[in-house]
Amino acid sequence: MAHLRTLCELKRWRMRRVEGPVGVPPPTPWRGLLPMPCALCGMTTRGAGLCRLCHDMVQGKQGNGVRCARCALVLHPQETCPDCLVTLGSFDRVIAAFDYDAPASLLIHRLKAQRRFTDVPLLTNLLANAIASAWPDLPVNLWLVPVPASARSIRQRGFNPAADVARLLARRLKMAYRPSLVRRVTDGVKQATLGREARLMATARLYHLAGNVQGAHIAIVDDVLTTGSTMHSIARMLKRGGAASVHGLVLARTQRRHG
Ligand SMILES: [Zn+2]
Ligand SMILES: [Zn+2]
Repeated sequence: MAHLRTLCELKRWRMRRVEGPVGVPPPTPWRGLLPMPCALCGMTTRGAGLCRLCHDMVQGKQGNGVRCARCALVLHPQETCPDCLVTLGSFDRVIAAFDYDAPASLLIHRLKAQRRFTDVPLLTNLLANAIASAWPDLPVNLWLVPVPASARSIRQRGFNPAADVARLLARRLKMAYRPSLVRRVTDGVKQATLGREARLMATARLYHLAGNVQGAHIAIVDDVLTTGSTMHSIARMLKRGGAASVHGLVLARTQRRHG
């Protein structure tokens, strides 16, 4: 009977997953128990996640080389971080789950381009693991604020990946989820087409603050950190509003291409 009940509950969970609202991660009670395919290589592994080999490939690279302590960019020995020269004075620090590099970049691509919402718990877990090891003295009253998506990308994707991750991460860390604190004013120019200076100028006008942040400890959640211009603009606005600290929590940190 217990076995039958288990099967019925599993069926109900699957139905909820299919029928649930768009972008809302499925409930997780079974995910750590059942053998399921690795999200990257397909090899059977315990729970909905990555096999050991893929996990090490995704998060194992982070120990390699000298990194900027503030934005996690890999640096040459003795090099001053070029990104932080531009964005200094805004966010305190960025923690990334992994580098935006193969094979981890495939997880981001599937989430954003293929709308694979079922990867949100896996990606959130990877980020939570990175936070646990990089930020042990997490403030107990941290607010998690997703970077608002443009109306254009909401139309294209039907959801905001940063908001899905922030919502689940807040639940996992038992912190406040504040999705309406930062609002996007306008779509602006597509940032991928702009250079660094132009990006900074464009992003500064994109967001506005919709609440009191005096003395608050805030973490801005985003899927990918590229140059840091978005993080910089929002963090600077929050600091000007009186926030005590502003950190960035991102799934992936883009690194420079060499050669
Ligand atoms: Zn694998
Ligand atoms: Zn840096």
